[in-house]
Amino acid sequence: MSRPPSPLWHPFADMGAVATSPFLIDRAEGTTVWDGDGRPYLDATAALWYANLGHGREELARAAADQLRRLDAYSTFGDFTNAPAEALAHRLAARFPEPGAKVLLASGGGDAIDAAAKIARASFAARGEPERVHLISREHGYHGTHGLGTAIAGIPANRAGFGPQAPDQSVIAWDSVAALEAEIERIGPRRVAAFFVEPVIGAGGVRLPPEGYVEGVAEVCARHGVLLVADCVICGFGRLGTWLGIDRWPVVPDLVTLAKGLTGGALPLGATLVREAVAAPFFPGSPGAPVLRHGATYAGHPVASAVALAALDLYEREGLIERGAELEVPLADALAPLDGHELVGEVRAGLGLLAGIDLADDVLAACPGAPQAWALGAREAGVLVRPLARGVAVSPPLTVSLRDIARIGDALHAGLEAV
Ligand code: PLP
Repeated sequence: MSRPPSPLWHPFADMGAVATSPFLIDRAEGTTVWDGDGRPYLDATAALWYANLGHGREELARAAADQLRRLDAYSTFGDFTNAPAEALAHRLAARFPEPGAKVLLASGGGDAIDAAAKIARASFAARGEPERVHLISREHGYHGTHGLGTAIAGIPANRAGFGPQAPDQSVIAWDSVAALEAEIERIGPRRVAAFFVEPVIGAGGVRLPPEGYVEGVAEVCARHGVLLVADCVICGFGRLGTWLGIDRWPVVPDLVTLAKGLTGGALPLGATLVREAVAAPFFPGSPGAPVLRHGATYAGHPVASAVALAALDLYEREGLIERGAELEVPLADALAPLDGHELVGEVRAGLGLLAGIDLADDVLAACPGAPQAWALGAREAGVLVRPLARGVAVSPPLTVSLRDIARIGDALHAGLEAV
């Protein structure tokens, strides 16, 4: 008997294909997830780069349940506040590389990115530079799918087909400090508001920054008064072995966007951290300041904030932030043998607990669907990885064992049979 078509519309999915073969995830614990038939898989993607603490953490469930009973919902609009949102803002601000940072809470990474872009522009306007509106981003960059995140997308397919985008933005080469300098000169330094950087590019292929790149672009931004937005939605919370991701480098960003691992993935939550000087026009210490007319219903949601606080406790107590760095060499070692395979083009790993493995150019030319086939092959071998445009990405929970890391390498090898 054929099943009636599902009305559930999956993001970034070929719904024709999904309609005939949806992949039901039924439950999860630790680094294992089970499908609808009870078959276990190693979750080498941490869901979508975010179940950093592993699945099924009792501490998160308890924090959510306790908070639901005490104060299930309230906004932080106007003068309203709540204890979990206050505590979370303090703890996140304390992780910013400079004192005095402000924290705007949101519902996810795309929210945090659009907030960052608007805060950058609004801060300049409030400081008498309203012409500073231009946003610069990088090829292969992914910054969510909201309005401004779509406009600055470095993956062209993610911009195409949605009609006119916000003007005043440009995309530069992903790996060149000189390209940023040249673009700022071309636009005119006094017209550029912000430059967006994923320290390690995630969805665009797991691209590690060249040596000196992060320090280089930070210096160029500072010299031209352009705000540096570190998009750490993937890179934060241990993925690069540090709290924020950008703090792996000796730079002070102007804004940092966070989401995903912030709650261990258990509830949707995002945050935009704003350097004191950028937020200052909105925090003058006396009434009459400009008002940031931006924010969503769920900003500072008490339950999501309580779960985030419990997640931060777990990262601290179990030393999981550092583990992201401790495991970077074992992960790179486990994937290194793939480098010599005739179907593989490039293995990118060694900075944090994430990796990208591209198929060879001739394989991709002959079969554009090869990354999906490879991910399905690995799934058959019992390991979930993420297909990307040119290959697959790996980003297991920080709780992953060395044995499981070895399994990821083996399953990717076995999965190549399906390509
Ligand atoms: N920024 C980066 C670097 C991301 O990887 C993502 C999502 O994958 C986002 C922003 C958007 O986050 P969300 O999907 O929570 O809106």
